[in-house]
Amino acid sequence: MTCQTRQPDRLAQPQSDVDLLESFVRWAAAQLNLDLIERPDGACELVRRTETPDGPTIESVSAFCWPGSRAPGEVAGQRVTPITGRAPLVEWFHDALQAQGPAVHARPKYQPSGVHDFSNQLFSAYTVENGNVHLGGCLFDDRPFLRLTYRSPALDRIEHYYFNENGTPIDTETVQSLGLNEIVPAGPYPPRMTGQQMTLLVHAGQRHIESVAPPLENGVRSTEAASEKGQLSEPIAATIIWAKHVTGKLRFTIGETFADLPFEGWARMFVPPPFHCEASGVDSFHLGATDDGRIVAADEIATCDKSGKRVVRCELVECSVSGQHVLEKLTRTCPVSGQPALQDQFTICQVCQQEVSNIVLKNGICQACRQLIPVPIDDPRIVWLLGEYPGLDRFRKWQLSETESVYIAQAATWWKRLLVVIDKETSQVHRLAHRSGFGSRWTDLEPAEREELLEF
Ligand SMILES: [Zn+2]
Repeated sequence: MTCQTRQPDRLAQPQSDVDLLESFVRWAAAQLNLDLIERPDGACELVRRTETPDGPTIESVSAFCWPGSRAPGEVAGQRVTPITGRAPLVEWFHDALQAQGPAVHARPKYQPSGVHDFSNQLFSAYTVENGNVHLGGCLFDDRPFLRLTYRSPALDRIEHYYFNENGTPIDTETVQSLGLNEIVPAGPYPPRMTGQQMTLLVHAGQRHIESVAPPLENGVRSTEAASEKGQLSEPIAATIIWAKHVTGKLRFTIGETFADLPFEGWARMFVPPPFHCEASGVDSFHLGATDDGRIVAADEIATCDKSGKRVVRCELVECSVSGQHVLEKLTRTCPVSGQPALQDQFTICQVCQQEVSNIVLKNGICQACRQLIPVPIDDPRIVWLLGEYPGLDRFRKWQLSETESVYIAQAATWWKRLLVVIDKETSQVHRLAHRSGFGSRWTDLEPAEREELLEF
């Protein structure tokens, strides 16, 4: 199972300006280890707590209220106004975050951190008849995405742009699916990424933003030119978001036999994959075992009517005589019908002496021997027959029938009939017999008669 990041249909954009700004402020505060105090009157205050030998000190960083709320007056001597993308606090965030390095580390707020977070969902997806499923291995690793946060051209809101680890933009659906739009600080020990790697990735993202920025009056697309117009400049935050990726293997065990199912994908988007049954080609979450010890899709297991063995349904054939569904190896193909039939459903035809399935027999004579058709002397099959055995050229009236392996030919004179059963491939004569014109019983020719008739 794989889960790839799709190429973008458009750049990831915010759904709500107000929610986006509030979400950014909350995240930046957490990232900078600030406490956000929200008062009942709607005022918010960002404070920095510092531990000193004399006890904690609290320093007020900023006071504001959320966009759209009523300004409640003053907090700590500061006039409280709704925060916007233009607010000095946003610029302050920019400086403070930039001081932490080329980018800061974060992770999706909601994502599985280990297999325990989805093991129930994983195992309950499968039903294993007389067996069980367990993990044969599972590895979680963190893979980086880049979020660049800009103030929008209007400067009163912010926008996020998301990229994969190669600096390629990713689409909105992927951002939401991976939870990249709702993040928290990665903690004190984020996955390792060098400052140079971060800088390269940030620059790749910035170059892309520049390339798609709306052209200005003179056609220039650079962020520097945009900045002069109060539009896009450098990002106010560059964030490496670490999404969990999972690789593992499920092992299904029934008795002494087992089958493995590898899986791979983003932990947050993980969906248990179906088991692919090689024998039937069917994908299934319901597994069982055949009597010969193969783990297959349980719904594809069927029982052989003859042997009672449990096998995969597609391995059974229908006996053309009894209608039973049986293992193919218990059958053979009838040379007359071309259909499989159980081996105990064959009888020797009294005329051509081939073993044929009972369904083509009537009064001991097979369908091929009952349905001979008159053919002209220049019929290619007769021409071939007479070429192989020139002695037969003395007969001018022929009737013919054929099975998968033989030609059944009869020649007629005014006083007797001749029967020739000849192998199509080897031209070996399987039977050479005669009967009187009015008789019904064929009599095999003596060896000397055979030789004379066939050779001369
Ligand atoms: Zn026959």
